[in-house]
Amino acid sequence: MERGPLKCLFVSSEVAPFAKTGGLADVIGALPKKLREQGIDARVVMPYYSKMQNQFFDHDSHFLTSYDVYLGWRVQGVGIYYDDTIMPTYFLKSDTYFSRPELYGYQDDYERFAFFCKGVLEMLRHIDFIPDIIHCNDWQTGPLCLLLKEMYSKDTFFSKIKTVYTIHNMKYQGLFGKEALNVLDLGNDYMTPEKIEYHGAVSYMKAGLLYSDKITTVSPTYAEEIKTCEYGCGLDRLLGDKLYYKIQGILNGIDYEVYNPQNDPYIYKNYTWRSIKRKQENKSKFQEEYGLEQKDSMLIGIVSRITDQKGFDLMKDTIEDMWVMDEIMQMDVQFVILGTGEKEYEDMFKHFAYKYPKRSNIFLTFNEPLAQKIYAASDVFLMPSLFEPCGLGQLIAMRYGTVPIVRKTGGLKDTVIHYNMQTKEGTGFEFEECSGYWMYKKIEEAYTYYKEYPDHFKQIQLNGMKKGFAWDDAAKKYYEMYSTMI
Ligand code: ADP
Repeated sequence: MERGPLKCLFVSSEVAPFAKTGGLADVIGALPKKLREQGIDARVVMPYYSKMQNQFFDHDSHFLTSYDVYLGWRVQGVGIYYDDTIMPTYFLKSDTYFSRPELYGYQDDYERFAFFCKGVLEMLRHIDFIPDIIHCNDWQTGPLCLLLKEMYSKDTFFSKIKTVYTIHNMKYQGLFGKEALNVLDLGNDYMTPEKIEYHGAVSYMKAGLLYSDKITTVSPTYAEEIKTCEYGCGLDRLLGDKLYYKIQGILNGIDYEVYNPQNDPYIYKNYTWRSIKRKQENKSKFQEEYGLEQKDSMLIGIVSRITDQKGFDLMKDTIEDMWVMDEIMQMDVQFVILGTGEKEYEDMFKHFAYKYPKRSNIFLTFNEPLAQKIYAASDVFLMPSLFEPCGLGQLIAMRYGTVPIVRKTGGLKDTVIHYNMQTKEGTGFEFEECSGYWMYKKIEEAYTYYKEYPDHFKQIQLNGMKKGFAWDDAAKKYYEMYSTMI
């Protein structure tokens, strides 16, 4: 019997353009679209956050169905909404759990995402779509793999469905108290190190790792790194000794329709690699709008979550009694950072913005149009991450002809090639050691090219712009993997 197209349901707590806090949203906003182009019936399901209401669609006309979800002794109603303007997307609506100002960070996150996981499985009984593969992402969806394998698959309706669990960041594991067992209807026998216990906590990530059929992560280098104690965040032995056979690293791409300097509506002047001269206008207009001196200083941009992962401690290292950041500012550079996160680093950047007026600017908000302006306006893009599963910032930067300066780790290692003046090959600057000194040296190297060898600097920009980081390759690899699973 001829089987129809492979059916895949992506389950994610954030999806661009509906709700985004980081790279996960970009991935789920783009990969299913690409898979659809390749013939897979890929769909997406996510929570219906109250802050999205009325933003994307009038919700009554998109209502599909409603039903109850059982969490231990609690019963919670859920409404399912559907929209296919961008791609077929199901939204789980519950005012109890998702009518909040932020996506995460609440005391009952364990219950909110247990509800999400169960709600998604129950949804399948109510809609006309039974996937071959459920593709889960990060800790918020880990329990779904467990519930499916241990409970739902006993029902023939679910028994053929396979799961993929993608790690977008090992650091965030979804660790909760024992009350999580209760909402997932799991007995105490699951509280063992062989199952989902992790140092006395219930680990949603372990539920995904152990009970999925395949694990992927977002770059080949990170797939190896997570098996080491330096990067494995305590799960390296589990991954390296026990689960290695089902782990695959597939490099992320970026959405070439969204991130395209040729027609990006948010930037001052559109350009391509052929008309890269026009990029300069983005810098001067940005300087004008945001109070930076109008001169040809090298503009260093950062768009990032402001957390220790992103390597901002290196700014506070010292070189000959001077902070690295102060040392950097001795050069003719300007500095702009957009991000939100930990107060300690926000305060540090505020301090520098105060100390170097007209040469630096800091925006402590989440603002995508402004992010795109920064990608287009900057000359170099700094990403000194301690670890980086894939990283999208450097890919977007290269797409906009902005030269990345990165620490050689994870996906940064897989995507940025250090420039070689002799061969004229390479797309940016890399340093390996986790030290402020080496970060400074690479910024200095980029600065030398920028000021003294502009032809080479342009070559690096063009190399980056011409390099393909669209989703096509990755989508093919996912397709191949899914095909082996059904
Ligand atoms: P992570 O997922 O670890 O946060 P990535 O580099 O993989 O890092 O992806 C970050 C994504 O979020 C990029 O698309 C980046 O442009 C975007 N981003 C990060 N911070 C902000 C911000 N403050 N405003 C707008 N976009 C942001």
